[in-house]
Amino acid sequence: MATISPVSDRPHKAAKRYIYAWGGGTAEGDATMRDLLGGKGAGLAEMTNAGLPVPPGFTITTEACNDYFASGEQLPDGLWDDVLTAVKEVEQLTGKGFGDAANPLLVSVRSGAKFSMPGMMDTVLNLGLNERTLQGLIALTGNERFGWDAYRRFIQMFGRIVMDVPGEQFDHALDAKKHARGAKQDTDLTADDLRALGDEFKAIVREATGRDFPADAYEQLDLAIKAVFRSWFGKRAMDYRNSQKIAHDLGTAVNVVTMVFGNMGDDSGTGVAFTRDPNTGENTLFGEYLTNAQGEDVVAGIRTAPKIAQMQTDMPEVYAEFQRIGQQLESHYRDVQDLEFTIERGKLYMLQTRSAKRTAAAAVRIAVDMVDEGLISKEEAIARIEPAHVDQLLRATFDPAALKGATKIVNGLNASPGAAVGRAVFDADTAVEWVDKGEKVILVRIETSPDDFHGMAVAQGIITARGGATSHAAVVARQIGKPCVAGSADLLVDYAGKQAHCNVTGTEFKEGDWVSLDGSAGALYLGQLPTVEARFEDQPELQKVLGWADGIRRMQVWTNADKPEEAAQARSYGAQGIGLCRTEHMFREGERLEIVRGAILVANEATRAKAKAAAGEQLSADEQDAITTFDVAMSKLEALQQGDFEGIFEAMDGLPVVVRLIDPPLHEFLPNLEEQLVKVTRAESAGGASEEDKVLLATIKSMHEQNPMLGLRGCRLGLMIPDFVKVQTRAILNAQIAVVKAGGNPIAKIMIPLVGHVNELARTRELLEAEAKAVREAAGGVEVDYKFGTMIEVPRGALTADEIAKEASFFSFGTNDLTQMTFGFSRDDAEGGFLLKYVEDKILPVNPFQTLDDAIADLMRIAVEKGRGARPDLEVGICGEHGGDPESIAKCERIGLDYVSCSPFRVPVARLAAAQATLAARASLAERDK
Ligand code: PEP
Ligand code: MG
Repeated sequence: MATISPVSDRPHKAAKRYIYAWGGGTAEGDATMRDLLGGKGAGLAEMTNAGLPVPPGFTITTEACNDYFASGEQLPDGLWDDVLTAVKEVEQLTGKGFGDAANPLLVSVRSGAKFSMPGMMDTVLNLGLNERTLQGLIALTGNERFGWDAYRRFIQMFGRIVMDVPGEQFDHALDAKKHARGAKQDTDLTADDLRALGDEFKAIVREATGRDFPADAYEQLDLAIKAVFRSWFGKRAMDYRNSQKIAHDLGTAVNVVTMVFGNMGDDSGTGVAFTRDPNTGENTLFGEYLTNAQGEDVVAGIRTAPKIAQMQTDMPEVYAEFQRIGQQLESHYRDVQDLEFTIERGKLYMLQTRSAKRTAAAAVRIAVDMVDEGLISKEEAIARIEPAHVDQLLRATFDPAALKGATKIVNGLNASPGAAVGRAVFDADTAVEWVDKGEKVILVRIETSPDDFHGMAVAQGIITARGGATSHAAVVARQIGKPCVAGSADLLVDYAGKQAHCNVTGTEFKEGDWVSLDGSAGALYLGQLPTVEARFEDQPELQKVLGWADGIRRMQVWTNADKPEEAAQARSYGAQGIGLCRTEHMFREGERLEIVRGAILVANEATRAKAKAAAGEQLSADEQDAITTFDVAMSKLEALQQGDFEGIFEAMDGLPVVVRLIDPPLHEFLPNLEEQLVKVTRAESAGGASEEDKVLLATIKSMHEQNPMLGLRGCRLGLMIPDFVKVQTRAILNAQIAVVKAGGNPIAKIMIPLVGHVNELARTRELLEAEAKAVREAAGGVEVDYKFGTMIEVPRGALTADEIAKEASFFSFGTNDLTQMTFGFSRDDAEGGFLLKYVEDKILPVNPFQTLDDAIADLMRIAVEKGRGARPDLEVGICGEHGGDPESIAKCERIGLDYVSCSPFRVPVARLAAAQATLAARASLAERDK
């Protein structure tokens, strides 16, 4: 056998080297070249280098794809000549001829980007076949039926994938032929049937495209290469990249690989397998295979494939070799591999290896097992688990009691875990339409293809009638973290009638009916079943992994919690403090709103009167009354708040609690202006409104602001109505005193919101310290302490952080407001208005209220530098929504924050993301040092 010329000097006619070949035991590429060769090309090269049986072939690089588009969808000059040379080499390696009637070389043409993309182009198999080469194939194999089957498959695939003929047209013709012949399976059709079918397929192509099916092997290859390139910007691929945040300028490689045949008889076969179970993570070979079949038969679920273990009985030697290769590849890549293979007349060929997609549960288990096996380090384990996996493990399951009484529609394969409830829809477009209207949907399909991706992405869950654990539906659902039941063979789906029923139980449902899908057990139920939260405490492996993360991460993870039960929940998830307790949330509960309103109604008058009294002026009876009413309401509030704080301090005993003083504009606690106006006007025309309602209306009007989010709120409110600061300070400190007396250890940090100028903070501090002093003096010997700090959420605050730091011992970035004020986007309106369109149209790369914008991060960096410059021990955290977003957490690490604070349910995700951020920072430091 000939060998390929060495890597460095592969001659090429094109301006660049676009081709990397492999075969005969050596390869020009390797695993490190994923950018250039794509994942598949790099994997094939690496497997060849490792001495594994891989059919010869070559990769046309991703760079060629980008240059193809750069030159107006033309192959770069010289590339075709280089392709011809590479084909020649494959001919030499295989001893076959491309387009040679006597001994034909057939190839598969496959796309392969850097990242695996199930939304991209399918594979074209059997390329090189025509009426003449087919005769050679038949002569060589002595199997006429095999030859005609290969030919009709080729026309079908090439027609659909390269020539854009709708696939159903071929499917209908195939079904009609089977029906006419009384054939159940494709394999029941005879050579003559298949020959006739090939002619019908060609007629379909002619009809649909206005041209004959190309007979010349080189023309086929040219068209297929271009089709792969074009598929990079196909809708499916674009949608997929958008959803997965994959860059559009990576390009795809094209792999041209010698065909090997799994459908040459019962000593042949093909399959897909994972080196460990991708659902559970169990360390056992997992997959499916079919004898006498080609690859797409397994993936599309056309015949229900037996489990891979069956191969042990059918072909014990091949199975043993496959198992050994699987282990070798797993050790080599130090990760679970997803393998494609074909057995041609008893000889095993490896067609693909790649890191396996896996469920969240599997990801965690595999990581833990591989650390225990010594295969990977804890750091690698942490880097591999996706934050979304942690999130999924905390997802709901169905309430077992409700499951018992539920009406089961059908069982299926538990392809991707989780509980999903929604209304049934039968196609992807409807799924998107309904979800846009605010509905939740379950997508019901006979099987899915990449064309369904947009529907799968918005559905709560997916169920298919056909296909196994490696079907498109299963693989994609696992990857995007949706519950999925696959291969529910008893479910008869009627797309036209928009309904489905189980042919065993007869239970039916139609579009719009509520269904509940159990992806963990593999079942579909009628109706909306109640779900139960996933229990963190029942997941020791997840806890172990997060424990490792805790040992790695530099930043702490705190939580945003306003109630003792939220605090307790967050603490059980590993929160190390409360980074934001929004005290105003406590003002809205039950009887409190009335008390707060009572205070607000007289707040301005009482405040003015108090100032007058302080200046030694005489007060009127009304003014006296206003003060009394106000003080009574405020002292009731004080008592209630003290109770709240005691509960929170107890729940977080020994951990810091950042209590933020009142922040929102007061009108938020009053009825809506329009509603009150209508109420009073109606009452007036019906005989007279109550005095109370009229006063309320007048107060609402007097407090009305055109831009309340830029108005009297935050520290401004405390400066205008100082009693808010005083009352809240007393409540916090007295709560501390009570908890200390009860033997607890409350750690309080008092935080002032919305500071833009240092004087705002300085004045508030004076006010607060005077009050705190009074409380302490009255404490009867109980010592309590607190830290005083501020939020940085106004751009001016960030830019003058050096001045502000002189008054504050800690900063917490309120990135919700900081984003609002820096962009000038209303956080209350923008997301429901133009902002999502901005993201859709790529005016903005992401929603800045979800993922920290780089300019906001820069403002934060300035604030941290200035703040620490003025006060080196300044503690800095983040409590805006970004504190629970992994990408934003990475930015916080780079800025050097001390902690992130997020909602309780995001604490576990943040623990992992913070550890990953530390690892990334270490890696980039190491890179810099190099
Ligand atoms: C913020 O602005 O980021 C913040 C945490 O405060 P709030 O959302 O309460 O305004
Ligand atoms: Mg804010």
